[in-house]
Amino acid sequence: MKQVNKAVIPLELTGLGSAEGDSKTWQLKVTLPTAIGTVDMTVPAGKTLDLQVLAVAISEGVSLSVSGAARAEGFCVRCLQPVDKSFDFSLSRVYYYPEELAHLLNEVSGDSNVYADLDEAYQVQPDSRVDLEPLLIDAIVPQIPYSVLCSPDCPGLCPDCGIMLARAEAGHHHEKIDPRWSALVDLVKEQGKKDE
Ligand SMILES: [Zn+2]
Ligand SMILES: [Zn+2]
Repeated sequence: MKQVNKAVIPLELTGLGSAEGDSKTWQLKVTLPTAIGTVDMTVPAGKTLDLQVLAVAISEGVSLSVSGAARAEGFCVRCLQPVDKSFDFSLSRVYYYPEELAHLLNEVSGDSNVYADLDEAYQVQPDSRVDLEPLLIDAIVPQIPYSVLCSPDCPGLCPDCGIMLARAEAGHHHEKIDPRWSALVDLVKEQGKKDE
């Protein structure tokens, strides 16, 4: 079972009944202590998200659903200009009571796939809190596009001088002899001498 660390974004489940089917909703404002995202785009640390949270008591723990909207910031993968992308997210996951999880892990110990999944499962903390951060990460990261362009036809940067081609004069290019060609020219000359 995963070590339960101190909740990064704690939610106290106070007021949620423990009978199966008991539910409670929250409207929360949550400030992200650390950025959530991919290498290229993140919802930055310090951003405040408006969240709707629904908790439903089940026998093994609490089923938690979170939904909201966020904006990821990053850079165009071609021209490196800042870009941002707004999106909605929502996800439901079960937070297990630690003793229930231990029991379940014991039951499925023969099935390594199920065991591995459960072993990573979220847990309700002993003080009746849950950590919303892993749920938010799992909800947000898949919504962030893998590679983002400032516009669908972004021409990128000039490979020679680094200027943004979108802002350069039409037909921007550099006159030059490709060093690979000049080497080839020398080779052909060399070959010509041998053949003589
Ligand atoms: Zn671009
Ligand atoms: Zn150039």
